[in-house]
Amino acid sequence: MSVSVSQEKTKNDIEKYRHIYVIIEHFEGKIIPVTLEMLGEARRLMDEFNQKYNSSEKVVAVVLGYNVRQLCNDLVTYGADSVIYADHEELKYPINDIDTKIIAQIAKDAEIMKKISPEYEKTFVKPRYMFFAADNIGRHLSSTVLAELDSGLASDINKLVISDLDIRHEHKTKGQSIRYEKVLEMYRPDFSGFLWTTILCLDNKNPEIFREYHPQGCSIIPGAFKPIEKDSSRKGTIVEYSPNIDHNLKIKILNRRVIKKTIDYETCKIVVSFGRGIKDNPEQNIKLVEEFAELIGAEIGITLPLSKKPYQISQQLDSKYMIVDRVIGTSGSNVMPSLYIAIGLSGAVQHISGMKDSEVVISINPDENSPIIDESDIFIKGRMEDVLPILIDQIKKQMSTVSIRSN
Ligand SMILES: Cc1cc2nc3c(=O)[nH]c(=O)nc-3n(C[C@H](O)[C@H](O)[C@H](O)COP(=O)(O)OP(=O)(O)OC[C@H]3O[C@@H](n4cnc5c(N)ncnc54)[C@H](O)[C@@H]3O)c2cc1C
Repeated sequence: MSVSVSQEKTKNDIEKYRHIYVIIEHFEGKIIPVTLEMLGEARRLMDEFNQKYNSSEKVVAVVLGYNVRQLCNDLVTYGADSVIYADHEELKYPINDIDTKIIAQIAKDAEIMKKISPEYEKTFVKPRYMFFAADNIGRHLSSTVLAELDSGLASDINKLVISDLDIRHEHKTKGQSIRYEKVLEMYRPDFSGFLWTTILCLDNKNPEIFREYHPQGCSIIPGAFKPIEKDSSRKGTIVEYSPNIDHNLKIKILNRRVIKKTIDYETCKIVVSFGRGIKDNPEQNIKLVEEFAELIGAEIGITLPLSKKPYQISQQLDSKYMIVDRVIGTSGSNVMPSLYIAIGLSGAVQHISGMKDSEVVISINPDENSPIIDESDIFIKGRMEDVLPILIDQIKKQMSTVSIRSN
């Protein structure tokens, strides 16, 4: 039967793909946290994978930069079996065009495989899986690298599973049920975290449109996974790659200035954030939040949709609050105050990622099915329009009692 023939062919071919490649990001000589989180998850997945499939595939960290050799040992202590690094002055700052080409070169380089896994050198074609950070650099880079490698990408992932799946699909399998092995199931939260989407990057096994898609690649939300414990006794292979830099590229960074954020969340003890729950009366509700925050000495944060300015409000409030610098979450700032007060926001996973290290969380929301309830130490069920005036009133009363007593 033709399907089983193509199934057999694909099964053999699939072993052309090996290892998890993790693309490392660093800033001012330090590895950024999401990178260690990705390495940790790659380590866990690969350990299970090797046990289940009786193989010896590896976690391979890929680092580009200038003077980056010193980072490589650390990557091994955090879970990499091998590190491939490209060290060049032109790689000092991330430039998407250049980095895309070099990562794609590394991903297809069989010579490197000789040093990392000689047993796979002859058959190796491309990585099996590839992880990037879901931040500004990684989101862009993941899309261009995977395009360069002729494969697919799932973005903003926060759960990963490797499994064998029986798939029946009109086009991909020509309607037959076919077993796909070692599939990376990539989960991402959609619709504010109320729905999970599972994304699979599957080969076309239908002989009429036969095509393979590897690596199976994704970008990973910062904070979604935990790094493994640092183990200085871990051993790994460190391989230098001499990049072939295309000097005809039009982009050159002559100077670079890091723009500091206008809001300093690092030192504040209380953060009050609001979301689309302000919708019934945005102007009035922001003023309520503002008054409340001023009373308790809090800095104000927002959810991402508010930075897109969805409501008609006065210029003064708009330019002060509906700005990207106030976004808390994967697309904005990470905060870890003693007290985080979440007002009228649902608690999407991208938002949670930016505030989950707060000591105490209080939320105000009429919907007890909102995911923010799971993060809350105290959940006040109610509309902000009703709850905030009571809180403001009570705090004012307490404050006047305190000040009368101290007088
Ligand atoms: C790639 C990507 C990155 C993202 N990055 C971020 C990020 O960094 N930060 C971020 O915040 N989001 C981010 N998001 C968006 C995120 O997925 C959610 O869509 C967003 O956080 C939801 O915002 P919200 O909670 O304000 O709105 P909603 O999800 O609409 O929630 C509004 C909440 O208000 C409550 N409510 C309604 N009326 C009232 C009332 N009168 N009083 C009090 N509560 C009320 C509702 O019950 C609801 O829980 C990202 C999304 C993507 C795809």
